Amino acid sequence: MAGEPQSDCLFCKIVAREVPATIVRETETTLAFRDINPQAPTHVLVIPKVHYPDAASLAAAEPGITADVLHEAGEVAADDKVDGSGYRVVFNTGSGAGQTVWHAHAHVLGGRGLEWPPG
Ligand code: 5GP
Ligand code: ZN
Repeated sequence: MAGEPQSDCLFCKIVAREVPATIVRETETTLAFRDINPQAPTHVLVIPKVHYPDAASLAAAEPGITADVLHEAGEVAADDKVDGSGYRVVFNTGSGAGQTVWHAHAHVLGGRGLEWPPG
C-alpha cells in the first residue's frame, strides 16, 4: 500500500533502525541523517518516514508531511549554522537527475560556496 514500509528500501531500513545512520533530527513524520558520501561540509538527508518514491508522489499524497520535510530542512540548516551563509535543498527526481534511492528525500547542502546553475 502507498506509504507503507518497503522491505527492499534502504531508507525504510534506516527509519526502522535496521541500517545505522548518523541521525541529527527526528519528528513524528520525518528523519534527518548525514549523507554517507557528503558533497559539502553540511550534507544531510531529510526523509518522510512513510515510503513514496519521490518528492512529487509524496506531495500528491501527503502535503502535510511534505511541509514537515521542508520545515525540517530549515531546522537542519539552522542547527548546522549554515542558514546565515546560505544552503540548498535539492530533490533529485529521476535517474537522469541523479536519483539513486527511490524513497523521497531532500538533500540539505551548505557550508561551502554552491554554484548556480548546478551541474
Ligand atoms: P540521490 O542520489 O537518490 O538523490 O541521493 C541518495 C543519497 O543517499 C546519496 O547522496 C548517497 O550518498 C546517500 N546514501 C546512499 N546510501 C546511504 C546509506 O547507507 N547511508 C546514508 N546515510 N546515506 C546513503
Ligand atoms: Zn522507503
